[in-house]
Amino acid sequence: MIPRETIDRIYAAAKIEEVVSDYVTLRKRGANLIGLCPFHNEKTGSFTVSPSKGIYKCFGCGASGHAVGFIMEIEQCSYVEALKQLGKKYHIEVEERQLTVEEQQRQDDRESMFVVNDYCNQWFKEQLWETEEGKAIGLSYFRERGLRDDIIRKYQLGYSPEKGNPLAKALKAKGFKDKYVINNVDTKIGCGVCGMSDDGRMYDRFRDRVIFPLFTVSGKTVAFAGRILKKKDNVGKDVNSPDSIIYSKTNELYGIFQAKQSISRKDMCYL
Ligand code: ZN
Repeated sequence: MIPRETIDRIYAAAKIEEVVSDYVTLRKRGANLIGLCPFHNEKTGSFTVSPSKGIYKCFGCGASGHAVGFIMEIEQCSYVEALKQLGKKYHIEVEERQLTVEEQQRQDDRESMFVVNDYCNQWFKEQLWETEEGKAIGLSYFRERGLRDDIIRKYQLGYSPEKGNPLAKALKAKGFKDKYVINNVDTKIGCGVCGMSDDGRMYDRFRDRVIFPLFTVSGKTVAFAGRILKKKDNVGKDVNSPDSIIYSKTNELYGIFQAKQSISRKDMCYL
């Protein structure tokens, strides 16, 4: 919960023209500012910002609101997330209700897992673009399937090498705790990018696969899907991150982060 006083300060600080300008190029027209609407496709600007009233209004699609609503709409985020984003922009500290010890621990666990996933995402991309194996197997596969390089980069596709469990080693060397790397099926803590073999050695869950990361709506790496390219017995074609306190497959939709602005602009989505 954000205190009322903080919310009032954010509302007072967030000038609609400054907030919108982070997303839309605005020109002056009389007392107002005008630009191309970010919520529908148009060639002439009908998106109007009124600094004196503190609101925006589009005469093309009817979108309208104040600064906080604008952020919610364009980022497709919650009210609280919009307040936090504006708080950051205007250097207003957004302190929430004191969390209980358990809530704090859970939040720390979640954040640590996102850090691990983020690191892995970078690492998988490096393997794809910067290693001989990644280029020869992963990158050439994506290109053969007709994916352009800009699309491969946009969707942040990656590669996980076949031998030697290099990701497990890299995570260890970086000092990440095992409990955030290996998934515990009971507590649901741990990303599960690595597993533990019976003899107590950590192995790369996604080894020898091309990698498709999944992102939250706000762009955090929440899970991975890995596809094997060779025919192998007793090995699944696809491997996915296990359920955890940050990832449930019913809650996430592949590509939503990359598509959210277009979906909102066109007010339409093909699934
Ligand atoms: Zn519009």
